[in-house]
Amino acid sequence: KKITIAIDGFSSTGKSTLAKQLAKELGYVYVDTGAMYRAVTLFAMQQGLISDSHFDKKQLIAALPQISLQFQFNPQLGFAEMYLNGQNVETEIRTLEVSQQVSRIAEVSEVRAKLVEQQQKMGADKGIVMDGRDIGTVVFPDAELKIFMTASPETRAQRRFDELTAKGQQVTYEDVLQNVVGRDKIDTSREDSPLVKANDAYEVDNSNLSREEQFALVLKLAME
Ligand code: C5P
Repeated sequence: KKITIAIDGFSSTGKSTLAKQLAKELGYVYVDTGAMYRAVTLFAMQQGLISDSHFDKKQLIAALPQISLQFQFNPQLGFAEMYLNGQNVETEIRTLEVSQQVSRIAEVSEVRAKLVEQQQKMGADKGIVMDGRDIGTVVFPDAELKIFMTASPETRAQRRFDELTAKGQQVTYEDVLQNVVGRDKIDTSREDSPLVKANDAYEVDNSNLSREEQFALVLKLAME
């Protein structure tokens, strides 16, 4: 019987790697909700609505109906890529620049309402693995399996730093660490849907777990 799997947790804990593996193994659909918040952020940056020094929240809220988000499965990659108003933005949304603004965008209730509605529609049929910050608490509070992932900030920053430099981005470890810690702070303290472990979620601290060990652990839970 197909179920709904919610994977939440702090930034760069390996949520999407685990979620993709699970979806592949179980033949489920994988949805990366962070990509949706990132795409809205990219839109706001392109429109000049947000920068380090300003944020035109009203304008963004007014522009929300003009933002269309879509996932399109790429068989070569084996996962779905993010499209913003018909454009493939999979690469652009993963930059440190977007990471540095995204948590401020994710604080806006109107943004969350729009994305949560779309996520609930995408997950209306069981057989889905969705990762994010509020999946087990807000999007699918009735999910049959909830995982909450944690790891030390240093472990997470190192992982993200390796990922970004492998893609050829010029970043420093210190900037990445600062970003990870900064996003944790905003994500856990925002008023609307703060990042918090659902009561019935399994906590997985993967600082000392290999990818294989973690996958085996969660797969077992999914099959129970
Ligand atoms: O998962 P990822 O690191 O790509 O998410 C980027 C940001 O989007 C998070 O730091 C958080 O601010 C926001 N987010 C959220 N709710 C989700 C998914 C992401 O607020 N369900």
